Amino acid sequence: MKPLSDKSINPDLPKQYRNLRSVEAYIEGILAGDRIILSQAITLIESTRPEHRILAQDIVEACLARRTSSIRIGITGSPGVGKSTFIEAFGTHLIEKGHRLAVLAIDPTSQISKGSILGDKTRMAKLASNENAFIRPSAAGDSLGGVAHKTREAILLCEAAGFDTIIVETVGVGQSETAVHSMVDCFLLLLLPGAGDELQGIKRGIVEMADILAVNKADGERLALAKRTQQEYRNALHLFPIKASGWIPSVLTCSASNNEGIAEIWQMIKDFQKFTLENGYFEHNRQEQSRHWLHETILILLRAQFYSDKSVKAHLKDIEKQVLEGKLSSSKGARELLDLFLRQ
Ligand code: GDP
Repeated sequence: MKPLSDKSINPDLPKQYRNLRSVEAYIEGILAGDRIILSQAITLIESTRPEHRILAQDIVEACLARRTSSIRIGITGSPGVGKSTFIEAFGTHLIEKGHRLAVLAIDPTSQISKGSILGDKTRMAKLASNENAFIRPSAAGDSLGGVAHKTREAILLCEAAGFDTIIVETVGVGQSETAVHSMVDCFLLLLLPGAGDELQGIKRGIVEMADILAVNKADGERLALAKRTQQEYRNALHLFPIKASGWIPSVLTCSASNNEGIAEIWQMIKDFQKFTLENGYFEHNRQEQSRHWLHETILILLRAQFYSDKSVKAHLKDIEKQVLEGKLSSSKGARELLDLFLRQ
């Protein structure tokens, strides 16, 4: 790609924005597959500055117009299950097959504490240095919905930049799986050998969302245990409700560190894609996801406007105090603030 000229930088902008490119320059760079410009554009998506948001919106719209065929894969699993080792092996396999891969992350812990489980830059170092891979740690944000929304927009930019395989990775804690599930075509759950008790309690919900399950670390001493775990999950899945896609989830084993079972998982993902493309679920699911994100975005925007509203800000503390002291019910307090917001 030819370097972008300085003409793309508007000299009339205030100093802090002068390093911004024009919308056209971002779009041109993204469409040419330039990873640096793609990365800068995603930074705009993640920014809270209104100027950046406006620019980001135009870039996303332009990228949306470029329809590409891609597969979006969600990957989840408890910390330590081997997600980054797996993605490194899986991604390398895909690149060898001629694919271009983007890895985005949603890490719910990065919002709570500064230290995040997924955001560590040293993860997947080999893959990150490959020009056919693009790796982006989790966006920061004050709500999971907000972070997920930004990730969804980042997916569109990555696809416009020619990445045909998108991985959205999340850690198996909290609500983030649901958010990831609502933006991917296929959901892969990595499991540990012997962790069959995950089928109880909250993990059950995650197992239910999975299209493909893989017991990782099926090597050395744990190979036999991994095979047993695979069988346990296979038995248990029979009792789960039939999926809307009509796809019957499969349970595989792999060893990410020994590069075993990786090609089989990719083949299974392709089988899933073929199956859902043929029965129409693939497109239907993407449409439903767009509908879901339309409504989510309305809520996110309304919420942001509400809390930045002058009169809401002026009365919020007082109403909160009254609610805490039991002088006002939560619903009446909310109603009063909404009235203040809507009156303008
Ligand atoms: P993450 O927290 O899910 O991203 O897990 P990591 O990829 O960081 O892996 C956690 C640990 O498990 C590391 O010490 C890896 O070397 C190890 N590990 C990952 N995959 C395998 C595997 O297939 N077999 C074995 N034996 N160890 C693995």
